[in-house]
Parts: sequence; structure tokens; C-alpha cells
Amino acid sequence: MATAELTLQSLEGEVHPDWCPGCGDFGVLKSLKEAILELGIPPHKVLVVSGIGCSSNLPGFIHAYGVHSLHGRALPVATGAALANHDLHVVAVGGDGDGFGIGMGHFIHAMRRNLNLTYIVMDNEIYGLTTGQASPTTTEGHKTKSTPRGNVEKPVQPLALALASGATYVARGFSGEPKHLTKLVAGAIAHQGFSLIDVFSPCVTFNKVNTYPWFKERVYKLEDEAYDSTDLTAALQKSFEFGKRLPIGLLYQAQKPTYEDTEPVLSKGPLVEQPLGLDPKTLAALLAETM
Ligand code: SF4
Repeated sequence: MATAELTLQSLEGEVHPDWCPGCGDFGVLKSLKEAILELGIPPHKVLVVSGIGCSSNLPGFIHAYGVHSLHGRALPVATGAALANHDLHVVAVGGDGDGFGIGMGHFIHAMRRNLNLTYIVMDNEIYGLTTGQASPTTTEGHKTKSTPRGNVEKPVQPLALALASGATYVARGFSGEPKHLTKLVAGAIAHQGFSLIDVFSPCVTFNKVNTYPWFKERVYKLEDEAYDSTDLTAALQKSFEFGKRLPIGLLYQAQKPTYEDTEPVLSKGPLVEQPLGLDPKTLAALLAETM
């Protein structure tokens, strides 16, 4: 990848976003680019991995390495990449359906390992790509295409799950607060360990309940209150607050050894730079078998 001066323009992907005008995901894309710019990370040091869904098209819209993987599988792919080359800044992205439905098992295991990667979930409380069915974060009573009489299921609480599973940077952002979101994303990428940002990212086409005005009426910033983001008990309490008031900001941050720090195989540097220890004939045979 060619090295060029790092600007917002230089981080633009070759493909223009195909999202509906006004989709919250535009704000997340912009914040991700601004955070990379703020941290001064060249594009060849960034890998963006996604699953499937509207938001999972994001890797195509940014100039960095990218993988558009399978439904719910962004985190296993991101894990593999982070372990193969822990010099990379690995950012997994996707939606609530992708990450908290089919991808839920991976979500928990990636966090309990405290892998050094960032996961940004564009949470719109609905399945947007498939035109408006209830997702794992759809609120109770919400009438969707798949719940015409109102959703009877309780929504998952991603922040509480993250805290209980071992994530060491847990935050919530809102697409309608772009500068605040950029700060959270930059903090997450700079953090050593698993960082989750659950972003309220409205689906303007299929979710007519959780709209920008709905969120604007409810969100408040944790930093505007006397809040200690090193206090796990306080963070757990906040993580369940979902009603008339919705906290955004950094809920919790802790410095703990990462998976990469504790795995002896990685102590000599990134795996991609270590000799394979295979003679050329065996290597050729292995490659032939897998090509
Ligand atoms: Fe965004 Fe919803 Fe349109 Fe998908 S359907 S691009 S989530 S507004």
C-alpha cells in the first residue's frame, strides 16, 4: 500500500457509501476516519473487518486494509488477523443483528481473552439490510415486520455483557454526537486490550421508533456527571440504564494484560515476521495443497 500524506481525503475508500441518506452509519465512518487521522496511523497499519449487514459494508468505504467476512464472523476473522500480525490496528465493525445475534458467541469469547482489538457496533435496534425485522437489541413492544403485534423479547444489554465478559474499554456513542464519538473511537484504538463501542446509529428507513430525535431526547454524557470510569460496579449499574435516560461516553477502562502479552508464541514479534521453520520442499507441498 502506497504511503501518502495522511488526510481525511486520503482515508476515503474507492467505493462511495451505499447507505440511505441520513443513515447513522455515515457518522461512524467519519468518526473512524477522524480517529485514525488524530492518532496518525497510516492506512497500511489498519485492518477493518466486518460481518454482514448494511453497516458491514464499511470496509469498502475507507482506505485501509479490509475484509468483508461472513454473517456474525467479524470477530473470529479479526482475532486471526490480530494474532498473525499484532502490529496492525484491527478494527471490527458491524451491526447489532450481526454481532449480538449470530455473532454473540464470538463476542463473548473475544472479550474474555482481552484481545487487543476494537469492535464498533452500529446499533440501530433493527435488521436494516433485510428491511426491518426485530434484532437482539430491538426494544420491547416495538412493532416490526417480524413482530407485527409488538416485540415480546427483552433486548440484550451489550455493555453489561461486555463488562461481565472481560472487555477492558467499554463505551457507548451516538452518531448524532460526532465529535464525542470520534474521541471514543480514538480512545478505543489507542487502548491496549479489547475495546467495545456500542454506537446508537439510527436506521432512518426501517426503524421509526429509535430515531435521531428519540435518542437526542434521552442521551446524556457520562463526563458531564461525576462519574468514575475505573469503577466496574458503577459501570455495571450504568450499563443497565436504558429508558428515559441513555448514558453515552466511556463506561469503563482498565489496564490488564492482553492475550497477545500473555501468549508466549507472540513474544518474539508478529507471527508474520517469524520464520516458518519449514524446509522449502515441505512449504511448497503445503502451499500446493491449499491453493
Ligand atoms: Fe442505514 Fe437502515 Fe438504510 Fe441500512 S436500511 S443503510 S441501516 S438507513
